[in-house]
Amino acid sequence: MATIEAKELLAHATWLAAEERGGRLTGSPGQQAAADYIAKHFAALGLEPLGEEVDGKRTFFQHYGIARTHVAETSRLKVGALDLADGFAVLGGKPVEVKLEGKLTFCGLGRVKGAASDLAPEQSLAGQIAVVAIKGPRGEVAKDLSVEQKFGMCFPVFGQLGRTAKGLAGKGAAAVVFVLVDDAIGMSDVLNYLAVAPGKDVLAPRFEGADAGMSGMAAMLGGGGDGPPSLVLSVPTSAKVLAELAIDADALRKFLKGDGERPTAKADVGGGLNLAITHEADAKASNVCAVLRGSDPKLAAEAIVYSAHMDHVGRRFDGEVFNGADDNASGSAGLLAIASAWAKSKEKQKRSIVFLSVSGEELGLWGSAYYANNPTWPADQIVANINTDMIGRSGPESGPMEVTVTPSHGHKMFSTIVRDSAVFAEQLGCTFTSGDKYYTRSDHYNFAQKGIPVVFFCNGEHEDYHQVTDHADKLDGAKMERIARLSFWTGWSVANADERPRKLGRQPSWR
Ligand SMILES: [Zn+2]
Repeated sequence: MATIEAKELLAHATWLAAEERGGRLTGSPGQQAAADYIAKHFAALGLEPLGEEVDGKRTFFQHYGIARTHVAETSRLKVGALDLADGFAVLGGKPVEVKLEGKLTFCGLGRVKGAASDLAPEQSLAGQIAVVAIKGPRGEVAKDLSVEQKFGMCFPVFGQLGRTAKGLAGKGAAAVVFVLVDDAIGMSDVLNYLAVAPGKDVLAPRFEGADAGMSGMAAMLGGGGDGPPSLVLSVPTSAKVLAELAIDADALRKFLKGDGERPTAKADVGGGLNLAITHEADAKASNVCAVLRGSDPKLAAEAIVYSAHMDHVGRRFDGEVFNGADDNASGSAGLLAIASAWAKSKEKQKRSIVFLSVSGEELGLWGSAYYANNPTWPADQIVANINTDMIGRSGPESGPMEVTVTPSHGHKMFSTIVRDSAVFAEQLGCTFTSGDKYYTRSDHYNFAQKGIPVVFFCNGEHEDYHQVTDHADKLDGAKMERIARLSFWTGWSVANADERPRKLGRQPSWR
């Protein structure tokens, strides 16, 4: 256990969370690079491959089906002298191929009817790209909206954008570009979760028993996508486009608040849209799996599965990368260092140890769901799952010397593994806090659903959770070391015990 050290943990986490990995979105080159790195590490340790068979030979990889909607790298929005390869998200996200050149026409709020119309009577937008400002909410909006609140506030706005785009198409517009001057209600965040954008694929699972998560919601943005090609620009890109069109941003803000004239734009700004969106129905994503066989003639048939997810959420549509250092380069680094410790141990354990690195976690626990339904070790011989997800930071739920754990002693699935690990934690100088609110939120849940006793070690959410600021230089190596050692010790005890772990149900305390 003492061979698990902060230095190795931080080295792995820093590699996995580097900018070059591009945020490790499931099925992306960055996630595959992470999978290759992990498989190489397992191979170097002399672990046995426990993935799928290819030509009668076991590999370290297990693949599952996904569908991928992708914006081609050649896609460009041109506005005057600007040639934009990113900074825009596409509403609807249907497969499309558009190549057009045309004038950019500023259409205010894009209203085409009645006294408030932003177009002159009989004005035609034939062949033009309409530029429309997105109207913000009335009045003040709370600063720290939850993700649910953002979804709730933004969806009606996206619906309105879809109707506006259709109205403008009725006047001949070939495409609509929506500019976002301010983003009080988190439209960018919702687009980052749901929309297809350059460098940001939208994925769906393609296997039985999968939770589609939010993957079906992209099509709902902008009302089903039967309007013209419609883009929403990020706030910084909107500012650039407004400057190119010589629209006064402050005058536009005033107009959007309802006090002021619609600002005018420079006439005859040329531009173009080159947009190709493809849909690939039979793409693949990978898990990585290896085993260290036990030494006991009977108990070696049983295994403990260590798991951690390698994937994260990719890129923001303004191009910034979500590095996911804590989530979950930290737990993945833990898995790698724990595997090193097991492989190097001179004393051989009785039961077998399976190391499982999964993808798809951020999208709906896909990789672990696929593994639990298609296990490469007999499911009834898996005696425990030890999962690590976010073990390198502190936050409201755990201080530097605390660990957030589920199922807690107050949970009906509390078991001997958690009880025993609480004793080891104390020896390592840390105490447990309840992580029961995360019971369904990481990969252990798919094992628990199969009746396998689980323990999940975590640090809970913090200010950089799912933000582009989740960087490796913020990781607490000493905390990662304690939790990785705790995971190792917990596994060691299960691996050598005479009996399998068993459920205890709710208890008055951890011990
Ligand atoms: Zn995670």
